[in-house]
Amino acid sequence: MDPLGENLLIVLKRIENACRQCGRSPAEVRLLMAAKTVPPERIKAAFEAGQTLMGENKVQEIKEKYDALKEIPHELHFIGHLQSKKIKDILKYGVQCVQSLDRLSLAEKLQQRLQFENRHLKVFIQVNTSEEESKFGVSPDEAVNLVKQVAALDRLHIRGLMTIGLFSTEAEKVRPCFQKLKRLQSEIRALEIPGVEMNELSMGMSNDLEIAVAEGATIVRVGTAIFGKRKYPDSYYWDERQVGS
Ligand SMILES: *Cc1c(COP(=O)(O)O)cnc(C)c1O
Repeated sequence: MDPLGENLLIVLKRIENACRQCGRSPAEVRLLMAAKTVPPERIKAAFEAGQTLMGENKVQEIKEKYDALKEIPHELHFIGHLQSKKIKDILKYGVQCVQSLDRLSLAEKLQQRLQFENRHLKVFIQVNTSEEESKFGVSPDEAVNLVKQVAALDRLHIRGLMTIGLFSTEAEKVRPCFQKLKRLQSEIRALEIPGVEMNELSMGMSNDLEIAVAEGATIVRVGTAIFGKRKYPDSYYWDERQVGS
């Protein structure tokens, strides 16, 4: 079997085992393929192997891969830092969910554009659970307030929360981040804010997906374990000063 197919099976098995360990059903956890830097042929191969959900960090990459992938039914989530000047593009190129909504100004601009196009969009609120300066996401203290403000924008439909755990070689160090996201989910649920669904928790990546599943992830975002190592460090995708996209 080609390594991609094999890698996918290994990742799916890891999810399944993690679910079994904590008594969850594997059907509760979706695999999102983090496709940054991956050429469309490889993504296509993953779709052919049965995957349906992909995530991209950069609008430019979405554009570049769009033609090659548009005939294949799949779901595309935006998981990178979104600049407001790229809003038109993410709507044009088939993004169905923005997982990285982290500020009111962006939400308001999305609302405005969606109104103009008479469309709606699913969003997750991205929370900076590790509280590292370099990381995007609303701080946990401000998350509830942002959810309330976004809930008032009728074109945006909140479905849950997303976080990137602490970047650490010790996977266990991320567990408190995931627990923080889970606690926030419960807190927001208890408020019963009209129009807000809190069913999704997007957390966990190649190194720590088992911990995320144990802490309640409904979506794990996996790149390296499926597609292999990337050429650039992740900071390349997250540091605005470097990317400038
Ligand atoms: C790259 C990326 C991932 C996947 O990371 P891996 O360690 O390669 O599995 C998940 N989420 C986001 C937001 C990413 O940028």
